[in-house]
Amino acid sequence: MKPVLIVGAGPVGLTTALSLAHQGIPVQVIEAEPALTLDQRAGSFHPPTLEMLAPFGVTEAMHEVGIKVPHWQIRDRREGVIVEWDLGVIADLTPYPYRFHLEQHRLTPILYEKLKAFPHAEVRFSTGFIDAKQSGDTVTVSTTSGELKTPWLVGCDGGRSTVRKHLGTPFDGFTWPERFIVISTLADFAQHGFTSNAYVADPREWAAVFHMPGLWRLAFPVHPEENEADVLASTAGCTTRSCLASPSAASGAVKPARACSISTSASAARPIWNSCRRSRSATRRCSRKETRRRAQRPSPSCGASPPTARRRATS
Ligand SMILES: Cc1cc2nc3c(=O)[nH]c(=O)nc-3n(C[C@H](O)[C@H](O)[C@H](O)COP(=O)(O)OP(=O)(O)OC[C@H]3O[C@@H](n4cnc5c(N)ncnc54)[C@H](O)[C@@H]3O)c2cc1C
Repeated sequence: MKPVLIVGAGPVGLTTALSLAHQGIPVQVIEAEPALTLDQRAGSFHPPTLEMLAPFGVTEAMHEVGIKVPHWQIRDRREGVIVEWDLGVIADLTPYPYRFHLEQHRLTPILYEKLKAFPHAEVRFSTGFIDAKQSGDTVTVSTTSGELKTPWLVGCDGGRSTVRKHLGTPFDGFTWPERFIVISTLADFAQHGFTSNAYVADPREWAAVFHMPGLWRLAFPVHPEENEADVLASTAGCTTRSCLASPSAASGAVKPARACSISTSASAARPIWNSCRRSRSATRRCSRKETRRRAQRPSPSCGASPPTARRRATS
């Protein structure tokens, strides 16, 4: 039997491949990028996902790196904690009565390693899907690395899926107008009373706070009246992985490299950021001069790449 062909080595493609390989079905994954992507994306798992991944040994491997988050808070921006939830109360319903924090770019290497253990599974990088034609029981797929034949083609190539568009399958819905920025910092929010996950409510100055392995991540809004180019320029070097983290492709680890103070355009973040600015010892910050310089011209070592940053800010 020719392998099932899966397009995309993101979490969905790799999990699909692993599930099929586990059932003895030959699979081939093609991925356009030369390696697994290291974007800072999803980072929170809930009990059903951990239960789903457990039979593949993935959940156990995730627990060697990630953080259990049994408690999380809803906070008011001014009043502080409104409610603190304890997921421990569902311990009779799931073996994983907690949120689990682990970045997506640390999950995919685990999935990939598990998949490689199957001789009937293969992942081909630098192989982009172009189009496909079906004839009888066979789908002939054109890729950037040549033609492949498969009995089944599975599109797991993300929200802008080329496979889906090629099939003419509609994807109804709309894009929310809200935009936000994600930053990472070494500052320890636990010292300020935060549980490892907290949502700070405010009509304008809301924030979502996540403790990740070795880092804290924050998402906060960019306001409609704020010019995106200005926000990205003035926070240049402060919001993207190139500055805040040094992803190591070899280990899949992210070493926090630097965190910068947020500039005036991202003023919504200031209240929460102020609290982390107090933790000087834990946070290497750009000096004001350096931040101003980067705002004018992002430096190679700490510069936000506009397309990447824009994608993140609008997702
Ligand atoms: C900042 C941020 C935070 C998020 N937080 C969360 C969260 O906390 N929880 C959550 O559940 N979700 C979260 N998400 C969403 C989550 O990241 C996505 O739902 C997830 O990445 C979808 O996985 P996927 O495998 O479907 O697609 P992707 O991760 O997009 O992977 C698709 C893969 O297909 C490849 N590909 C694309 N086109 C082709 C082609 N033509 N040929 C071959 N390969 C191709 C891509 O290179 C990519 O590797 C977040 C997203 C962002 C941006």
